[in-house]
Amino acid sequence: MGQFARTYFAYKMNPKLECADDHFHDHCGVVGVYGHEEAAKLVYLGLYALQHRGQESAGIVSTDGRELHAHRAMGEVEEIFKPDVLNKLPGAASIGHTRYSTAGDKALLNAQPIMIDCNKGKVSIGHNGNLTNAAEWRRKLEHKGSIFQTNSDTEVIVHLLARSQARHLSGALGDALNQCEGAYSLVVLTTNELYAIRDPRGFRPLNLGKLMAPNGDVAWIVASETCAFDLLNAQYVREIEPGEMLRISRSGLESIHFAPEKPHQFCIFEHVYFSRPDSTIFGRSVNDSREMLGRLLAREHPVEADIVVPVPDSGVPAAVGYAMESGIPFRMGLIRNHYIGRTFIEPSQAIRNFGVKLKLNPIRGLMEGKRVILVDDSIVRGTTSRKIVRMVREAGAQEVHVRISCPPTISPCYYGVDTPTREELIASSNTPEDIRRFLGADSLGYISLAGLRQAVSDTKGNFCTSCYTGNYPTDLVQLEVREGASFGKLTDNAPVMVEREG
Ligand code: SF4
Repeated sequence: MGQFARTYFAYKMNPKLECADDHFHDHCGVVGVYGHEEAAKLVYLGLYALQHRGQESAGIVSTDGRELHAHRAMGEVEEIFKPDVLNKLPGAASIGHTRYSTAGDKALLNAQPIMIDCNKGKVSIGHNGNLTNAAEWRRKLEHKGSIFQTNSDTEVIVHLLARSQARHLSGALGDALNQCEGAYSLVVLTTNELYAIRDPRGFRPLNLGKLMAPNGDVAWIVASETCAFDLLNAQYVREIEPGEMLRISRSGLESIHFAPEKPHQFCIFEHVYFSRPDSTIFGRSVNDSREMLGRLLAREHPVEADIVVPVPDSGVPAAVGYAMESGIPFRMGLIRNHYIGRTFIEPSQAIRNFGVKLKLNPIRGLMEGKRVILVDDSIVRGTTSRKIVRMVREAGAQEVHVRISCPPTISPCYYGVDTPTREELIASSNTPEDIRRFLGADSLGYISLAGLRQAVSDTKGNFCTSCYTGNYPTDLVQLEVREGASFGKLTDNAPVMVEREG
């Protein structure tokens, strides 16, 4: 079989490739509540607000002052935590975690928060991020006799914690974390304390809020995103600082700086795509950043057209910005179905673009005869974008101009975001002109890296942009090779999905 025939066969016959979800996946969300008699219920609501950060599993651990009580399961927050489950999570302090696996497999075994009973007492940990030296530490620790229960990187922290000579937990946590490299925003619960911790570079967000408890005292809440505070009527106080360990106990708040300062590396993609637009992340409104991305995109890549159409939902604020800046009318030409379950039955008779049609449907009357500017937040493999362009054309658009509110994604993330391998990223080995041809668009424009930095007001170089530059801020990046399909160099004629050989 020739290369062309082989690649065409792979593309058509592998439904996984055909329907691959062509987005970066959100990583994890964490919540913690201290000083409220319904702590676990508040954590449940907080996790509900953070569901977009992980849909594979969720867990809540609470303390009644003597014991830790836990429930973890696969699935979404609403299906896991029914009233009878929440009633078994008593006490005035609690932490929760919602997970999309970025290290370790997807089994329930890896669902968090992790619980341990060690020489430092009963401890539970929820982790958002990814340790880049976890595999190395795991090898060393296993050599010294440690037995790992999960294959999650978070368990490395637990073993290092148990081995620390420090007498108090805060010291042991500092010891453990100073040996870890990479990204971690943590919530840690003991029987009488709650800790909120952020790595010295501050890759992932973590925020502090407060609300009034029924007894009139202040209750404290920490969460990955501030949208969790809004749902609970909590007031935003501040970010947990990079390198800060905030200890919350009966004595109040104690801020401990456990690590030497390092240059900040806030994940810029939180502003492009991950976080909810109603959140404040790294001290800045996500919606403001996205609208500014759209405005700058319009300045960098203007084009004569009739309407600006977002790829919903994440492309909406940037499309609003593009429309405001260009004066071209904004129209919701694509409608998203929000009620898609995790499984669906595909008809045996193939329907063109079936996977995308499940999620998006065009409004033909808006598209017919129009020159359309299609705004999306990113292109990962390009397979979904290509189907959307085709869908817009089939709805009658005369021209389709694709505009992307981030630079070409050329390199994977090792800091807690699930990305394909470098080979699978279409922009890693193809020029924008190659990609335009593959998408079947009349033009394609990505915002520049300088434009992206400007949109988030990054005047001091405080943001991580590794997935756009391939330059990583940590020494140790363990490159993993995944099984599956990859993109090769694009040719003029699609299909271009190639089977990895060997
Ligand atoms: Fe965020 Fe990209 Fe850096 Fe990962 S590599 S932390 S996705 S900016």
